[in-house]
Amino acid sequence: MSRLAGGLRAALTPARAAAIARRVIAVGEALATVCAAARVLGDERVVLAEALGRVAAADVVSARAVPAAPNSAMDGFAVRHADLASVPARLRVVAIEPAGSVVDTPVEPGTAVKLFTGSVIPRGADTVVKVEDTEERDGTVVVRAAPAPGANVRPAGEDVRPGQVVVGSGTVIGPADLGVAASIGCGTLAVHRRPRVAILPTGAELVEVDQTPGPGQVVNSNAYSLAAAAREAGAEPLVLPIVRDHAADIRAGLARALEADVVLTSGGVSVGELDLVKDALAAAGVERVFWQVAQKPGRPLVFGRRGERLVFGLPGNPVSALVCFYLYVRPVLRRMQGHRRLHLPVVHAVLAAPARKAKGLTEFLRVRLEETGDGPVATPLAAQGSGVLSALGGGAALLVGPLELTELPAGGRFPVIVLGEATLAREAPPF
Ligand code: AMP
Ligand code: MG
Repeated sequence: MSRLAGGLRAALTPARAAAIARRVIAVGEALATVCAAARVLGDERVVLAEALGRVAAADVVSARAVPAAPNSAMDGFAVRHADLASVPARLRVVAIEPAGSVVDTPVEPGTAVKLFTGSVIPRGADTVVKVEDTEERDGTVVVRAAPAPGANVRPAGEDVRPGQVVVGSGTVIGPADLGVAASIGCGTLAVHRRPRVAILPTGAELVEVDQTPGPGQVVNSNAYSLAAAAREAGAEPLVLPIVRDHAADIRAGLARALEADVVLTSGGVSVGELDLVKDALAAAGVERVFWQVAQKPGRPLVFGRRGERLVFGLPGNPVSALVCFYLYVRPVLRRMQGHRRLHLPVVHAVLAAPARKAKGLTEFLRVRLEETGDGPVATPLAAQGSGVLSALGGGAALLVGPLELTELPAGGRFPVIVLGEATLAREAPPF
């Protein structure tokens, strides 16, 4: 009790409420502000197996040609095209060259070397006749059809020339980039560092997932959803122990959290008497950039900075916390990793049923998004409460209800933020 009493503060007087209201900023301004505050982190070298999805921090320049020497695109026979002036043409087979070996025997007029896909083209040959167009008999080969000069020969450097940039700085490294890097003998890549994200759950009512909540207690689910969202955004989450609604506890938690690049607190940022996170942030030297965004859910969002470290005071309501993460934290984490695409994909969808929304706030309505013959259709989910986290799972998307409207008419078109690619388009092979 005495610990709680230590945290009590002045009630929400009209004057205090007015001061709070003046600070409410619009969603666009909030997003621009957080993105502008994020700096691209420095780089580190990682082995190829660790590099998937990371952003290249430097150009990768090849010292080699790939392939190193001209080689065959087919199983067949290396020949001199001049020998095929009239077909059928009979040539003497002077050597066999399986892939991985190189024969010294040159292809002289009237001769051929039998080879396989990937075999180096022997000296003297300029064309490969594919095996299907030949007949091999008694040490000779009969070429039935002449291909074009140079056919089936892959020139040296066809894939990569010496000096070529094979992975440009800023590339989001995908499987093909990894394969190309390997093909030039480059076993490590310089990539931007992943941000370390400390997650600090606050709330005297919270218990851990393996505890049975007593009266008035809830499981600390935000630690799981936020850590997962941070990992999905490419960051390295570190979940800190729950801290109670007590100024000293929150300050101690923050001291640890501020070792990370980004701090996410959960809970305690509203206007209640036990919402102590804002003061604790100030006490920890975190400069407040904004508090309160004209949005629902997530209005009490706090954003601050201490040097290069960025702090998001997320509301405790599970939907609010995760929606604020998707809207503001995710782009910041992506910018820090060097990504150029920061935001979730947006589609424009037709609203299937009318929906009411809060006046003067941009509202993110949970919808089910479906592709129809006429384009995407969004159906509002029945439960829109900021505590109804189950309505945000299962492929839900966020329809953006404009600030000025109070009713969204059925048939109206609105932007919808796609949270998972599964909702973006119907799964159908394109052939
Ligand atoms: P607060 O923002 O602290 O006022 O909390 C708002 C609501 O979110 C309350 O019902 C809390 O119990 C709930 N809440 C706060 N933190 C968490 C958490 N880490 N996990 C799940 N629910 C939470
Ligand atoms: Mg709380």
